[in-house]
Amino acid sequence: MKNKTPITTATDDTAGKNRDETRQRFTRIARCPSCRKGKLLWNSRVVRCVTCSAWYPITDGVLQLVPLTSAYTEDRNSFREKVGKRYRLKVDRKTVSPESPQEVQRRHFDRYATDIDQSYNIYETMVFWRVIDRSIFDGWMKIIPKNAVILDVGCAQGRSAKPFVENKYTVIGFDIAKKMIEAGNSRFKDLAKPPLLFVGDATTIPVADGCADVVVLYGVLHHLPHPRLIAKEIARVLKPKGIFLSLENNRTPLRFLFDVLQRLMCLWDEKAGESPTMSAADVSGWFAEADMTVRTRTHVFLPPHLINILPVPVGYRITAWTDAAASRIPLIREWGGLIEIIGTKTNQIK
Ligand SMILES: [Zn+2]
Repeated sequence: MKNKTPITTATDDTAGKNRDETRQRFTRIARCPSCRKGKLLWNSRVVRCVTCSAWYPITDGVLQLVPLTSAYTEDRNSFREKVGKRYRLKVDRKTVSPESPQEVQRRHFDRYATDIDQSYNIYETMVFWRVIDRSIFDGWMKIIPKNAVILDVGCAQGRSAKPFVENKYTVIGFDIAKKMIEAGNSRFKDLAKPPLLFVGDATTIPVADGCADVVVLYGVLHHLPHPRLIAKEIARVLKPKGIFLSLENNRTPLRFLFDVLQRLMCLWDEKAGESPTMSAADVSGWFAEADMTVRTRTHVFLPPHLINILPVPVGYRITAWTDAAASRIPLIREWGGLIEIIGTKTNQIK
């Protein structure tokens, strides 16, 4: 990765100072995900909204900044039994529906965080994803200002935070699955500038309007309900010239080949939402409705199953070459397996 510097580990007060700085930057922009506007009051055990008095527990070192409709009900109940009187926590009036899209994704990713056969850590270290991650993040680093704060939506166990952390960006990330956040905190705990990670819901991003420099959804949009509404939520939180970055499953006539290969040899366990794949037209339409401009480009014209058996440098070169060759051929250039999306709220994309 270009511009990559070795990850520095914490040897003194640096980590604490950086952690405090990141936390301060977050507390300035954080807002209540229940009423969508209230500022938050923080202490070491619980965060509360000054407007609607909703409360958000910090359990096992993880802040759960989600509305009741996507909260961990059992965690909240046991937390309230322990400290409810002391903090005057009101009883929850709503609970999570087991079949809500958030709950379905959460069950999948909480299992995927630590599953022995197929974990997110294994997924991340496959040749195919090492090749793709390097290619995509190298490009993104070139367009992100150095002082930008990265809002990493659906951050998993830090997979997408890692390249930004390596490049010394301030990263604030959240995921619907608590076990993913615990894995991320454990992974970054010794770093000099760790990301701030918490449990959050992409349908109610808990930050103020127009506060985010960069919003990243790395392979996340196809897990979420109502991508059209998510586009509006992304537009809401971005600064006027803020950047939106995403990589998704492209809808192509060749997708069936990948599906057949996955049935023969499942490389990763997928649990998509209502839009498992998306075309450039879909994406442009959703974001145009949110007053955003996006440009898209497709990548990967070889089966991941093939790339996966190559050494990483070979896979990287072959993928770069086939991407470049395909990009010159009308129609075929739209058929890559993945679609990269770069957007902004203004019309300034070149
Ligand atoms: Zn509130």
